Amino acid sequence: MEEKKDDNISAMCTVAVGEAGKTGDWRSVRPVIDRKKCIPSLKNKSACFLCWLYCPEGVVKPGIPVEIDLEYCKGCGICAEECPPRAISMVREDKINE
Ligand code: SF4
Ligand code: SF4
Repeated sequence: MEEKKDDNISAMCTVAVGEAGKTGDWRSVRPVIDRKKCIPSLKNKSACFLCWLYCPEGVVKPGIPVEIDLEYCKGCGICAEECPPRAISMVREDKINE
């Protein structure tokens, strides 16, 4: 049987949570969300979620409030860079409990 080719179908990939292992073990900085600035919390509306869209590890849970699985977050800071209202700060792990 002849193989059919559909030009509308292209290769896609999706991130898999935890593919890089428990990166929370060696992370040196972590994202901390200021809920007073985060759009979904502020407006009580499912909106923005750019942190979820850009996170390469797929560890951001888009909801109200937005949550990050720190067990697998590698602390790359992309979410903080992409957040329009600058609601995410990257905080050094050794400063977390201070
Ligand atoms: S720092 Fe942000 S973008 Fe990077 S892995 Fe953690 S949640 Fe994802
Ligand atoms: S990108 Fe920033 S404002 Fe938007 S949902 Fe994420 S933390 Fe909230």
